[in-house]
Amino acid sequence: MDKNFKLKGFGSAAIHSGHTEDPNYAHQTPIYASSTFVYDNAEQGMKRFSGQEEGYIYSRWGNPTFTEAEQKIAALETFGLDIEAKAILHSSGMAAISTLLLSNLKSGDKVLTHFSLYGGTDDILQRALPDFGIQSIIVDLRELDKVEDIIKNDKSIKMMYLETPANPTIQCVDLEELTKIAKKYNLVVACDNTFASPYLQQPFKYGIDFIVHSTTKFLNGHGTAIGGVLVGRSIEFMKTKAAKTQRLLGGNANPFDAFLLIQGIKTLEIRMQRHCENAMKVAQFLQQHTAVAKVNYSGLPSHPDYAVANKQMKHAGGMLSFELKEGLQGGIDFMNKLKMCTRTVSLGTVDTLLSHPASMTHYSVPKEQREKYGITDGLIRMNVGIENSEDIIADLEQALK
Ligand code: PLP
Repeated sequence: MDKNFKLKGFGSAAIHSGHTEDPNYAHQTPIYASSTFVYDNAEQGMKRFSGQEEGYIYSRWGNPTFTEAEQKIAALETFGLDIEAKAILHSSGMAAISTLLLSNLKSGDKVLTHFSLYGGTDDILQRALPDFGIQSIIVDLRELDKVEDIIKNDKSIKMMYLETPANPTIQCVDLEELTKIAKKYNLVVACDNTFASPYLQQPFKYGIDFIVHSTTKFLNGHGTAIGGVLVGRSIEFMKTKAAKTQRLLGGNANPFDAFLLIQGIKTLEIRMQRHCENAMKVAQFLQQHTAVAKVNYSGLPSHPDYAVANKQMKHAGGMLSFELKEGLQGGIDFMNKLKMCTRTVSLGTVDTLLSHPASMTHYSVPKEQREKYGITDGLIRMNVGIENSEDIIADLEQALK
């Protein structure tokens, strides 16, 4: 594509942005399966190492296949915003989150975050970082007055970490209001945008500094690779502190997974539209079903965070959860009866995935503890896929009988 051609649509940007013409005229960016890169002469090697010349050195530091995925994601997270950002691809969402935390925090610092978070993030904040002198304060970030009081009274809080929508009750926190408060006190603000994807929500719009994704999910879209990305608005910070931390921790991506990610991102817009359309139909179906006690979908006016989701998301997304009246055994029976939908964890794939946290991911967590996070005995989490909605609903209907 001609560099001067200004793309008007997000879907076109997902297809064309980040692509540079291949020196051998390949239509698609190849999988650069090379651990290292060569120099024409010693002087060139010297220039590359000293940063005087742009160029690849070693694949832990960067690789042409990663570059296309990185530039695509940065372009989508800033699409229509008139700001710049730089992305660094990682081996997993957790690797990207580790780079974010370790490049921004030091011993004595604290992170303020919401109680409903991805389990791995919660674990690193509550169980790994305290050993290095970094503590976390976990609150309900929907109580804005309390949030400001906490920050005002604790000067060691250096970062606000947001994840919205969040697992498993699809809680949403207010990106605009929380960032306003955080910025009054000079906090770094980061947001996990995995559940929404940049098509539905662009945290940079509110002045947020960093975005992380598990690219394993909607960005890849097909469940074919684990990956993560850290995107930052300060190009300088991303090129120096963040890049150095990623290189030293060694959480680099690999070229094959980056290639799969590039192909997945190209269809992000139409996939997300169908995920959202189907999720709304499924939520409405479940809401009127007699075996279902409650549906958590932020696109339904009954969801407590409906207004916040409406304000900051284009549509409510492809994730929902629901509670079966029959509790633990009801959940197990329901899962066993599914005929088309897939029984598994993870999310963001084209096929519909269902999990029953009480008998699967949270089986070993004591009931009182998991219920605090909304994980009741009969809770089913669902990634509504992009199959024809009548088939998804027919499978749920027969399994709910
Ligand atoms: N963030 C969210 C919201 C997630 O759901 C996950 C994984 O499920 C992660 C981060 C971690 O990503 P990964 O499994 O790619 O390390």
